[in-house]
Amino acid sequence: MVFGLGSLFSALLDHSTGTRLKTKSNQRPKTEDQISMFRIGIGNDTHRLVEGKPLILGGVRIPFERGAEGHSDGDALTHALADAILGALCEGDLGVHFPDHDPQWKDADSLQLLARVCWLARERGFNIVNVDANVFLERPKLREHVGAMRDNLAKVLEVDAGYVSIKAKTGEGLDAVGRGEAVSAQAMVLLSGEK
Ligand SMILES: [Zn+2]
Repeated sequence: MVFGLGSLFSALLDHSTGTRLKTKSNQRPKTEDQISMFRIGIGNDTHRLVEGKPLILGGVRIPFERGAEGHSDGDALTHALADAILGALCEGDLGVHFPDHDPQWKDADSLQLLARVCWLARERGFNIVNVDANVFLERPKLREHVGAMRDNLAKVLEVDAGYVSIKAKTGEGLDAVGRGEAVSAQAMVLLSGEK
C-alpha cells in the first residue's frame, strides 16, 4: 500500500502524541499543506543556594534550611523549562523577556513566567507535546516532591502530567551541586504546530 506524504505524517503524529490528538482524527484529514511542524528546545539553569531564601522547584516549596538566590523566586526547574520553550520558538531566553533589573519580576512566581511563555507559544500556533527534565540537587531528596512538581508544570503547560517527566539527580559530591552550593536543572521540550 502506498501512502501520500500527508497521511504518513498524520500517522506519525497520531502515534507520537497518543490520545490527546486522537480527537483530531474525527476532524477532516490534514492536507499536505497542513502537516504538523515540530520544534525542539533545550534549557538549563543554575542558582546558588543561600540561607534565608525559600527552595522552590517546579512551583513546590521544599522544606530546607537554604534556598535559591535569584531575582525571582529562583525556581531553576521552571526557568530551565521556560528557556527550553523560548529556545524552541527561537525567542531568546528568559532574561530577554523578564530582565532581572526590572522590579516587576522581583520575587516573581516562576509558574506565572512560564504561563506567559506558554501563551507566547500558543500565539505562534504551537502546543506542548512533552517535556523531559533533570533537577540536580545534593540534598534534600526530591523524590517525594516530584509528583507535585509534575502536576504544577502540567497544569501550566495544559498537558496531562503523563507528558511531563522530571528526574531527581544529585551531584555525587562533585562540583557546586555536589558540595550543596547550588541547584541546577535542565529541560527539553517538544512543540507541535501546523505550518
Ligand atoms: Zn533561574
